[in-house]
Amino acid sequence: MPEESRFLILLGPPMSGKGTQAARLSQLFGIPQVSSGDLFRDNIKNQTNLGLEAKKYIDRGDLVPDEVTIGMVKERLHREDCLGGALLDGFPRTIPQAEALDDILAGVGVSLSAVISVAVPEDVLVERASGRRICRNCGQSYHLKFDPPKESGICDEDGGELYQREDDKPETVRNRFAVYQAQTSPLIEFYRARGILHEVNGDQLIDEVADDILQVVNAL
Ligand code: ADP
Ligand code: ADP
Repeated sequence: MPEESRFLILLGPPMSGKGTQAARLSQLFGIPQVSSGDLFRDNIKNQTNLGLEAKKYIDRGDLVPDEVTIGMVKERLHREDCLGGALLDGFPRTIPQAEALDDILAGVGVSLSAVISVAVPEDVLVERASGRRICRNCGQSYHLKFDPPKESGICDEDGGELYQREDDKPETVRNRFAVYQAQTSPLIEFYRARGILHEVNGDQLIDEVADDILQVVNAL
């Protein structure tokens, strides 16, 4: 594994912009975006056993059990394209997942470079949720108002169809916020205690958030 490997985590509540920022940084740094949500949705689309199992939890807005999630992400991180690093988006979401990630990275002789916590007030998150659309092919996020595609209903990247995620319905989104508070937000203190947490204001224009994240990464 090259010494300059860069493993970054984007941490934040649903709708904070993790996927949007991870996609940009991934292009900029030439390292893959590893999104646990996208991996689950690919498995559901392909009707794998893992997808069928995960769907029960995702439809309710609950977390998929750690052992299933960790196994899936571990397999992804062990692929060749992650040798130079990865941008983790949506993983880890629990303390056991964070501990498992340490083991996975230690197993290939690297450690986390930084954790970027994207903070956004809850009323802003709720407003973003109703307008999110994602590409069926590549998972790219758009927003009807804040980040529309060039052509309505079509992904700029690959021409894929844009759709609204079933779990972006208001009642499921509410549960996802509660799950974030209970199970994921403790990771902020977990990584702060390690001295690798960097906080960024996610309640700005997409380009402004991207600039702030770049400043953090360039200063590492
Ligand atoms: P969000 O837009 O809320 O960040 P994601 O696409 O990351 O959504 O995740 C969608 C759903 O997939 C989650 O609500 C959860 O059910 C499941 N999921 C994604 N990542 C994880 C994870 N690390 N651990 C457990 N479940 C996960
Ligand atoms: P997450 O992966 O954290 O759930 P996304 O990147 O999918 O979040 O963004 C959630 C929604 O908000 C999407 O519709 C996206 O286009 C939009 N969005 C992302 N960042 C911003 C921003 N800074 N301002 C306004 N809307 C944003």
